[in-house]
Amino acid sequence: MHPEALRPESVLVSAGRPERHPDEPMNQPVVLSSTFHAGGDRPYGREGNDTITALETALGALDGGTATTFSSGMAASTALIEGLPVGSVVVLPSSFFNYHRTLLDEQVRLGRLSLRIVDILDTEATTAGLDGASLLWLELPTNPMLAVPDLPALAAAARTHGVVSVVDATLATPLGIRPLEHGVDIVMHSATKWIAGHSDLVMGVLTARDEKAAQRIRNRRTLTGAVPGALEGYLALRGLRTLAVRLERACANAAVLAERLDAHPAVRTVHYLGRPDHPQADRIAMLLDNHGGLVSFELESVERADRLCAAVRLISHATSLGGVESLIERRGGYPGEAAQGTPATLVRLSVGIEHVEDLWTDLARALG
Ligand SMILES: *Cc1c(COP(=O)(O)O)cnc(C)c1O
Repeated sequence: MHPEALRPESVLVSAGRPERHPDEPMNQPVVLSSTFHAGGDRPYGREGNDTITALETALGALDGGTATTFSSGMAASTALIEGLPVGSVVVLPSSFFNYHRTLLDEQVRLGRLSLRIVDILDTEATTAGLDGASLLWLELPTNPMLAVPDLPALAAAARTHGVVSVVDATLATPLGIRPLEHGVDIVMHSATKWIAGHSDLVMGVLTARDEKAAQRIRNRRTLTGAVPGALEGYLALRGLRTLAVRLERACANAAVLAERLDAHPAVRTVHYLGRPDHPQADRIAMLLDNHGGLVSFELESVERADRLCAAVRLISHATSLGGVESLIERRGGYPGEAAQGTPATLVRLSVGIEHVEDLWTDLARALG
């Protein structure tokens, strides 16, 4: 079979299956073994196993490269960042997933790296920051403000400057965007979110366009031991099978909720990729295949935002995103978010696959 010839919806379902022989299982079983009989090319569980390989086959086919999974999204990012030589310069967004900022700040404190913080929406300024840098870290769309940088232009600029480009595409998923097709070197996902989709595991993935880069990533994972568990691998692949239908429903729900929130008197500003007046609407139309399941919105006050999160009943007040269940939290409440300019009253809603009218009833009552 040639999964790359199929549309993503079919790759999701068909990739990473055992060979079609009589009595072979339909699904790759969970391999619970730390060691393997000698003589092969994978003697020990820290190098992965067939369950993890099945998942990586599917993720690589979706992203259009070679995928390596990690024990969390942060472990995946760390594999890239801690693999940089001392003295390397990293160009990073002024506003993005705040743990990545903390991870990079820590590297500065340790005297290992220096940072150039740029507005990634400003292509010129970002390009100017690439001189002598080693790594360009991008996020598309950004979490939680849902901004969309000019990916093809930035990937080309990074290439010209000999800088490795990485895109955290956790919020977009491989169904929303395939950054490697736009000239990016490595795509990163927190598989904890939409990929696994059921809030039942923590995992990360790095997919590299270049096979040698993928091998270096793989070696680093083996060395540092950030391999995911086999059960998590099984669950993530099982979750991945339904990504297209989960995302389709979540996107449809999010579109309805974003519009109604926008019209609600208690809501000040709605940040949503599907807004016709989104500041990067043209770019979104060009780069993204859907508008995603996230809606961020600002309320009048912190008290009102906290009251909303406490009052929801169908929606859960919890961090994270991308699960079948809708989650809400005041993202602006985290110190790391405040430091990068996220409004204190900003609430992020990860829209699940419940009935949209039940979600709206819950939201409208909790806002009232
Ligand atoms: C959650 C998240 C991460 C970190 O992934 P973990 O699996 O929680 O370690 C990275 N980037 C984005 C955009 C995320 O939402």
